[in-house]
Amino acid sequence: MSNPMAISRQAGSLLEQARGLALAKFNADQSGKNKDKVCAVAISVVDSSAHFELFSGAPGYGELTGIVMGGGASKQSASQLITHKLTQFLGSEEGGGFSNEQITRHGYDAHGRGAMNCAEPKMYYLLKEHEAQTVRNWVVIPFNYTADQQLVYNAPCKNCRRWVYRHFHPLSGLIARAQKGPEAFEA
Ligand SMILES: [Zn+2]
Repeated sequence: MSNPMAISRQAGSLLEQARGLALAKFNADQSGKNKDKVCAVAISVVDSSAHFELFSGAPGYGELTGIVMGGGASKQSASQLITHKLTQFLGSEEGGGFSNEQITRHGYDAHGRGAMNCAEPKMYYLLKEHEAQTVRNWVVIPFNYTADQQLVYNAPCKNCRRWVYRHFHPLSGLIARAQKGPEAFEA
């Protein structure tokens, strides 16, 4: 993956694939659309037929808890495990160095949610802890809906960009830059 033309073609095709997956996910969603709701899509660069989609906020937390319970855990222990691992990660330097208050209540972004309430940390947990995947082999591509019901690319927020670009595959950052410019990296 050293040829810039090939990289840009790969980024474009991943973006289109992810858009289709996010659209299908939003269309099947019963938990209600709102303009802050993000669907993060992760696609493997090793096998592009492998993908996952998760929502932000409580719906995403519920989805992830359900997946972990499918592995045999009770609801309470699944939820405790997710919260514990994500708090540990987001509090670490490589996870952005958030305080507990920033993790659960209010981080760096104007959206006012804690660092663990986004879709991206849930995807990180799903890939790393539940699927035992190398996160660096996965491109994360988030979307949301505008007020006029258009599905749009939604770059990682100011909480997530403290850690997302260095853990997921570098194409995640290239796509963010191509879609949003340098703004996608501003602290
Ligand atoms: Zn975020």
